[in-house]
Amino acid sequence: MNRRDLLKMAGGGSVLAAVSGREQKAQAQAAKAANGMPVPKIKDIKVIETEPQGVRLSVVKITTDQDGLYGFGCATFTQRADLVTPAVEKYLKPFLMGKTTDKIEDIWQSCYDSSYWKNGPVLNCAISGVDQALWDIKGRMAGMPVYDLVGGKCREAADCYSHASGEDFPQLLDSARKIMAQGFRHVRVQVGVPGMAAYGSGRGNKEVKALHSGPVFESEPYMKRALKMFEVVRKELGDEVELLHDVHERVQPHQAVQFAKDLEKFNLFFLEDVLSPEDIAYFRQIRQQCTTPLAMGELFNSPHEWMPLISERLIDYIRVHVSQAGGFTPCRKIAILGEMYGVRTAWHGPGDVSPVGHCANVTLDVVSYNFGIQEYSAFNDRAREVFHYCPVMKDGYLYPNDTPGWGIELDEKAAAKYPFGTGEQGERKNLNGGWGEVRRRDGQVIKQ
Ligand SMILES: [Mg+2]
Repeated sequence: MNRRDLLKMAGGGSVLAAVSGREQKAQAQAAKAANGMPVPKIKDIKVIETEPQGVRLSVVKITTDQDGLYGFGCATFTQRADLVTPAVEKYLKPFLMGKTTDKIEDIWQSCYDSSYWKNGPVLNCAISGVDQALWDIKGRMAGMPVYDLVGGKCREAADCYSHASGEDFPQLLDSARKIMAQGFRHVRVQVGVPGMAAYGSGRGNKEVKALHSGPVFESEPYMKRALKMFEVVRKELGDEVELLHDVHERVQPHQAVQFAKDLEKFNLFFLEDVLSPEDIAYFRQIRQQCTTPLAMGELFNSPHEWMPLISERLIDYIRVHVSQAGGFTPCRKIAILGEMYGVRTAWHGPGDVSPVGHCANVTLDVVSYNFGIQEYSAFNDRAREVFHYCPVMKDGYLYPNDTPGWGIELDEKAAAKYPFGTGEQGERKNLNGGWGEVRRRDGQVIKQ
């Protein structure tokens, strides 16, 4: 029996595998783990770029000197995707070639330090790709899912929220009802502000007079509209559904304090990014004045950003983007830190995380006692053509694969069918996948 057959024995099966099958699999896994194979060495590192779903995804593949043993890691930074590949292939690859794959902590720390200047999104995403690929390799060697390598599941699956949006209230309600009908118990709600480029929704036909010709956003009409939205949504959808909302750091700090207070009566599951990373000191004021649950972190790169919010208990949910923070290794530590302080996890999980990254997210979800919620975005047919064995969604729960490593395979030929730029149009295509700009009426650019 060769290694592939052993892995097939150890893996395979669905989430709902029969108990007897599980027992057989466990025995095969134990036999494999106890077998002891030589420590693999890194033979090649490359970045696979693909865009099957309209968003630029970067996945690192590490190949070892052992036949058929490799791993995948998410290194996606979609707005600056072309910079990630050289960060991996021109800097981390020569640093890591020939090293053994077993010392994940050591490799993470040495990669982190090797640029001297650190904690930026490009370099963190590059390290994440390597880090997650090494966890994948270790799981494949052991014949275990990564969740078993770090202690095992403390829940069966991750409760998820999905995004409802609309230009107006009827559209939004329709969108939310469709999500609830799929079994989701948690829904993020965003509605358009007439004539304005509100986050997460359409803008409608109304014209807004401005001193420029581009997209316009003003925070006051947005906040009034959002408060009205919660009145309508609570009245139409009831009290049982859990509601979330993302401000996307688009209001001023003093407005954020008032807005969080005004939302208190609607009992949100959480209010997301009510402040920009530059203004996080204002969380202390919000905390003193209301009980609206607060979530923050998808833009964070550095411990200097999440440490004070967690250790001073200034937020309720840490929402770090796992590749942006450097991968599975540092995010496992963030989760444990949060557990010590009663802060729960809500890892960033939109379309600009690759399915490999979603595997890392859901692994953290099922092993962390202080899991809060998981953001979910569906994988379309083209994504499934490229990424085989994506995590399974059922009734609002996301299930991790029960096969070795992340349990995911990437079809490189299929990935090559969807090069960067596939499916992008207009400004985003012109900006090489980057974001455009939104300005106030008077022409001042805003954070978005
Ligand atoms: Mg967000």
